[in-house]
Amino acid sequence: MKGFWSEKRVTVTGGAGFLGRHLVKRLESHGATVFVPRQRDYNLIALDSCLKCLLEHPCDVLFHAAAYYGGIGINQAEPAKLYYTNLVMGANVMEAARLARVAKVVNIGTACSYPGYLEGRLKEQDLWAGPCHASVVNYGLTKKMLAVQGEAYKKQYGLDSIHLILTNLYGPGDSYNTDRSHVVAALIRKWVEADMAGAPEIEVWGTGKPVREFIYAPDCADAIMLAGEKYNDVTMPLNIGSGIGTSIRELVETLTAATGYRGKIAWNADKPDGAMMKVLDVERMRQALGGWTPPTDLRTGLAKTIAWYRANKAQADAKW
Ligand code: GDP
Repeated sequence: MKGFWSEKRVTVTGGAGFLGRHLVKRLESHGATVFVPRQRDYNLIALDSCLKCLLEHPCDVLFHAAAYYGGIGINQAEPAKLYYTNLVMGANVMEAARLARVAKVVNIGTACSYPGYLEGRLKEQDLWAGPCHASVVNYGLTKKMLAVQGEAYKKQYGLDSIHLILTNLYGPGDSYNTDRSHVVAALIRKWVEADMAGAPEIEVWGTGKPVREFIYAPDCADAIMLAGEKYNDVTMPLNIGSGIGTSIRELVETLTAATGYRGKIAWNADKPDGAMMKVLDVERMRQALGGWTPPTDLRTGLAKTIAWYRANKAQADAKW
């Protein structure tokens, strides 16, 4: 039987990146013909190059998964580059999509777009209910503008698009570079290296109190593919996550159990905590995706990721 993706032409910006690779693999295994624009051929920060890409490789569905992003460290170090790259690239990709008459755009957004000081799980209707957390405002705000652009482009040009809000990802192929990594990749590297060196102490940033939600990247790719098929409401973003909150302290305990590390933890409170809680409400996701929830729990996903990192350490560490 033919599925939704068989014979579909799909373009995935960022398809050679961390999440993008997992997404491309999923789409291809479901029969899609996937094109991945590479930076050396198409510069998505220039509109003419973006349009050239979509005219030379016409597609039915465009996943905009390219982003310049990273953990709390890079948000402090490179706020301007995060701002300019993501804002301009997003605006160009949508403009080029309508000029090239793409049928549907799936924009990949971020939980950093949510108000940074709300209590409880983050619901889609609260996306504009307050300012982003100061630690991630440049990335969060620029990605959120895609939701605004999507509504405007539907109204004026009839372009169909959806906006997906992703929680913190981890998994094989992530950035393990200390200056860029998110907490899971950063800590996996620290734990594995401490284990290899027999180090007596590991430094962990902040107080350990912030609560985050983690999703295994291959699971997230599944959800994105499903949303590309089933979700069509341009007026309301859709959260993609597990809905399960884990404190950084609990993450540290889980990693310690997974690796057998027996040294001390040094909490460095001079490093930022970021938002105290960032956990998505996933009720609408479950309904929209036919009851889907991420199949890989944190313990299993961490074990797989640690095994991958140990086996690919040199290559993983060399990647930006
Ligand atoms: P965020 O979700 O945007 O805040 O980004 P991160 O994934 O970078 O950080 C999540 C939390 O993990 C923050 O509270 C950090 O202080 C904490 N954390 C603890 N150790 C580390 C580390 O070595 N690297 C990073 N990136 N975060 C860390």
